[in-house]
Amino acid sequence: MAKKTTPAPARIMLQELRALAHNIWWAWNLDAQAFFRELSPQLWEQRTHNPMAILSELSDQELIARLGNPALAAKAVDMLAHFKKAMGGEKTWASVNAKQLKNPVAYFSAEFGFHESLRTYSGGLGILAGDHTKSAAFLGIPFIGITLFYRQGYFEQFLAVDGWQQEQYVAVDPSKLPIALVRDKNGVPIRCAVEIGFSTVYFVAWKLAVGRSTIYLLDTNLPENEERFRDLTAHVYGGDTTTRISQEIILGIGGTRMLRALGVDPSVFHMNEGHSAFLTLELLREQLLKGKDLKKAAALVKGRCVFTTHTPVPAGHDRFTKDLMAYAFGALCRDLGISIDELMEYGRVTAKNVQEPFCMTVLALKMSRSANGVSALHGQVSREMWKDLYPGTPVSKVPIGHITNGIHIASWKNEITDQFWYSKLGSDWGGHFLSPGFWKEASSPSVVTDEELWALRYELRRSLIEFVRRRLRRQYMRHGNGVAAIENVLNPDVLTIGFSRRFATYKRAPLLFNNFDRAVSLFNSKDFPLQLVFAGKAHPRDDAGKQYIKRIVELTKHPMLFGKVVFVENYDINVARHLVSGADVWLNTPRRPLEASGTSGQKVTINGGLNCSIMDGWWREAYDGHNGFSIGTDESPESPEEQDAQDAEFLYDVIKNSILPEFYDRNKNGIPVRWLKRIRRAIATLVPQYNTHRMVAEYVKKYYIV
Ligand SMILES: *Cc1c(COP(=O)(O)O)cnc(C)c1O
Repeated sequence: MAKKTTPAPARIMLQELRALAHNIWWAWNLDAQAFFRELSPQLWEQRTHNPMAILSELSDQELIARLGNPALAAKAVDMLAHFKKAMGGEKTWASVNAKQLKNPVAYFSAEFGFHESLRTYSGGLGILAGDHTKSAAFLGIPFIGITLFYRQGYFEQFLAVDGWQQEQYVAVDPSKLPIALVRDKNGVPIRCAVEIGFSTVYFVAWKLAVGRSTIYLLDTNLPENEERFRDLTAHVYGGDTTTRISQEIILGIGGTRMLRALGVDPSVFHMNEGHSAFLTLELLREQLLKGKDLKKAAALVKGRCVFTTHTPVPAGHDRFTKDLMAYAFGALCRDLGISIDELMEYGRVTAKNVQEPFCMTVLALKMSRSANGVSALHGQVSREMWKDLYPGTPVSKVPIGHITNGIHIASWKNEITDQFWYSKLGSDWGGHFLSPGFWKEASSPSVVTDEELWALRYELRRSLIEFVRRRLRRQYMRHGNGVAAIENVLNPDVLTIGFSRRFATYKRAPLLFNNFDRAVSLFNSKDFPLQLVFAGKAHPRDDAGKQYIKRIVELTKHPMLFGKVVFVENYDINVARHLVSGADVWLNTPRRPLEASGTSGQKVTINGGLNCSIMDGWWREAYDGHNGFSIGTDESPESPEEQDAQDAEFLYDVIKNSILPEFYDRNKNGIPVRWLKRIRRAIATLVPQYNTHRMVAEYVKKYYIV
């Protein structure tokens, strides 16, 4: 039978589309997403918005037939041109501002969050790493990220009927992700090894392209590994401390070995949190092998490393006992020619204190040329926390600085928002996040009228409500409940508060319900009604966090709160994107000063949302009295109980006396003029500052270039 031949252009286009889908660039390009969704709207929904899954599940014949549609083919041509432009590297921010940075920055992080289809993240730390990578790509900085390939990722969250969190792990199929096994020139996968407890553990790497940046994800799931090591990289922060230390050996030591196997000589090693700090021991080993003495070797390593700390509580830092260190590092000590006791000293504040366990943050601090926290307050807290490492140095001179976190704005805009700014500011509206002048102008009534801004808010709020109802319907059906009542859940005219983040207890999700009667009266006010959307996961071993979720789920069923307070299951990047675009007010209630920075609130501004937050982390330096709302002041009582009681009062006060009256204060055309003024102020002051383009540029100038 004669084979049917296809005209060349469609085939070539399909090849180009596959190449494009292999770069997760589409995660922040809505035209690209719209294109792939159009190929199969159903698969798009079923496969967590993943172009790779669509291209692998539709046959070539079918895809080629679709591309015969001139309108669709034209969209493909546009998208491919756009991609090519984004990948071009001639003139970038870095080519002007960071010429010295010839070799790549190697950025190590235990998690990276890029898109909902790649579940290699658990929360803010991963999202920050993902957004850092995307901005590095935009700025044109040579950038390589190192992490683990969590085949089963972080868990999917489902609620039991009683509101208790259930966790389900789903293994991914690498062939349906935009990743490829790293191979040598003969096509053989590049394999490296580390020693853990006198066993050899092998691993390979998967490569992920993120615009112009590259990520390597290390994977121990190999038949040649002992059974117990195959699943080492299966879960994000899975298992006990033995798993933890083993994962961190793969990440730090393994990651460095993989870079060497690939012939990469990084200009700087950036440790995003202490998880990867073992990389400094590998660099030390390299220097000793070259014949350097220990002191000289340590100085050389220190000259190459920078460290960002994220944890303002002493208990939050990874610590390992001497026994565990001896188990994990017996072989390395032999290679380094040092004893376990000598190794322990690198991770102790007081080197000779044999009671002290090995702390990853201490190792990172000792072996880095610079260190920083992630907001001004967090820098201050970190200097205080680690001052004993620098005896004789006044706290204010402890060498830990700060760079305040940001977000990759393009990843957090909604389609409606994208259209909106496109129509007001032109196709390059996303190219000016480093320009305060541009956003001052963009936020002014000469560019956007009150009516337009208010219409945008309405549309976004309604779109969130539709999303919530879709999600609740699924949840109800699973529980065997009727779904009729869902049609009346949430109201598109009502002030909508959003709260979603990890359910760590210090974030105090139920704070608003501290006084149940007052909370109920707020939600049931006739003139100034309120509604609230919750989402978030508790760590699988955090029963207190799960208790908070259960409590909130119970509240959502209370007759006085039903339809006004809702909890959306399975918080992830997709849920976050919906919530941060639809919420009028983004609520953040951490116990001070435990929110090192926080970033979710930064995501609302481009969508016209406002922050209402404790004066902690980024908000403490961002709030200017007019660009959102503060809960309380820039001080707080020491005792957590006092703080909770006091902050609940402040919260009721700001909602009742500022937020509600302003939101519902309408002029004769039904416009909340004062509210919109606040949104304008937020856009002008926050958008050009609290984004990762600014943040990465700061890392380059302050820490990457010496
Ligand atoms: C932004 C984001 C976070 C971080 O939220 P915080 O309020 O900073 O804790 C966590 N998870 C997801 C999915 C996010 O998008």
